[in-house]
Amino acid sequence: MDRRTFLISLGAGAGAIGLGACSKDSSDTAAVGVGAPSTTSSLPVPTLAKDPFTLGVASGDPDPTSVILWTRLAMAPLDGGGMGDAQVPVQWEVATDESFATIVANGTAVADAKWGHALHVTASGLESATRYFYRFKVGDYTSASGRTMTTPAEKASVDRLRFGFASCQDWQSGYYNAHRDIAATENLDLLLFLGDYIYEYGAQEVGKGNTKRTHGADEATDLAAYRNRYALYRSDEHLQAAQARCAWVNIWDDHEVENNYAGMQSEDPKIAPETFSSRRAAAYQAWYEHTPVRLEAPTGADYKIYRSFAWGALATFFMTDERQYRTDQACGDQTLKLTPACDEVNSGGRTLMGPEQLAWLLDGLDTADTTWRVWGNEVVMTPVTVGAAILNYDQWDGYPAERKQVLDHIKAEDITNLVVVTGDIHLAGVGDLTVGTGEAREVVATEFVGTSISSDGLLPPGTEEVVRSAVPAIKYVNSSQRGWTYCDVTAEEWITEYRMVDDNLVDGSPLQVDARFRVTPTVPGAIQL
Ligand code: FE
Ligand code: CA
Repeated sequence: MDRRTFLISLGAGAGAIGLGACSKDSSDTAAVGVGAPSTTSSLPVPTLAKDPFTLGVASGDPDPTSVILWTRLAMAPLDGGGMGDAQVPVQWEVATDESFATIVANGTAVADAKWGHALHVTASGLESATRYFYRFKVGDYTSASGRTMTTPAEKASVDRLRFGFASCQDWQSGYYNAHRDIAATENLDLLLFLGDYIYEYGAQEVGKGNTKRTHGADEATDLAAYRNRYALYRSDEHLQAAQARCAWVNIWDDHEVENNYAGMQSEDPKIAPETFSSRRAAAYQAWYEHTPVRLEAPTGADYKIYRSFAWGALATFFMTDERQYRTDQACGDQTLKLTPACDEVNSGGRTLMGPEQLAWLLDGLDTADTTWRVWGNEVVMTPVTVGAAILNYDQWDGYPAERKQVLDHIKAEDITNLVVVTGDIHLAGVGDLTVGTGEAREVVATEFVGTSISSDGLLPPGTEEVVRSAVPAIKYVNSSQRGWTYCDVTAEEWITEYRMVDDNLVDGSPLQVDARFRVTPTVPGAIQL
């Protein structure tokens, strides 16, 4: 069957069903039951010329009775998907065993060209704190299977949670050895991805700097280009395997749209907000299409993604968006300059989170009564300053009044169990978050910063010790290695393990544990083991 015939047969199906069957329609996607797979869609199943499951599968945003299952049909992943305009019915199955002998939920979801033939299925009616396996089928093709897990029931006592966090996976800068390691980790219930899932940048030349592979494309600025960029990243076998290992909870950082954008302000001050708005809308749509999130599809350039979830009585997670609502970076957004900060940084009204999200976070921190409170945070909160100089205005250092408001609140509410996990800056680090100065300085929370999966380190080699000695709040820095971070959490203690790739410019390089830290829920501040 040639491509033209395929498109025609798909087109006939689309005409028959009309526009009513959307992939988020609960009667189609949330069909749940025990027994044989149901086919509730009346759409004809097209005969596909090629395997459409080139981008793997994923699951995310679990709750006690359901989880989001994701895939995207793409016979030509790097060239718009190659699925034509039609709606395609896709069967999905959830089983309690890896061989799919016992299917506990199934249904048919409709992949629509409007969303790049991506699917977000809510598989519901599941048992809490339970491992499941899932897969998709179209015609003769069956996807890879993924493993996922529902969260424990609300307030249920939980012995242990083992989760990871990761960020910053520039495909051109190195290999996905860290993802291979994530995929090989048997005891992993959840992974938080803290942003920079793609980089919008244009092609880099292989051999220049650390560039190991090039995508040959221009900087992504429109929907077609963002979709192709996600598809390129998702074509990596190690990333596919890591996403199939466990449920992910994703937030974005800047590079899903553009480096260091702030609200509706492009990094390039010459670009008007009205122009940037359509780029942001395209980028947010492509993020939605490639992320297993429990969110409605975006309808424009505004898209609320901040959200929280609980892991029984053990932990409440707050996942925040520190790009969409922020004031533009102060003082010209310079980095690694030793000149004292300009006045702008302390001017009134500057915000990183926006007033609504900030109020939501502070209120949520107050009412969470789990053993741990966990904040999935996008940019570094620990002060990284030398004298009066701010080394990076893009971090919380550029928004000191709002940071003080958050930390004062934690102190005032007597919260001792907050652990902040952070991405963005391509280094592993541990910091104390404090209130007061001098003798009155007091640690109120712990920050674990994770290194990048593959993006280049940003500190010149050998400067880790300089930063560490200049900044007393920092207990550990490793900027020279790539990797991910593993957290083993019980009601008594939280152990963080920094897993680092020996040499990420070598495909297949092994990982080692570089450092381990312990925190307890009653005394903030990490202790190195
Ligand atoms: Fe990054
Ligand atoms: Ca970033």
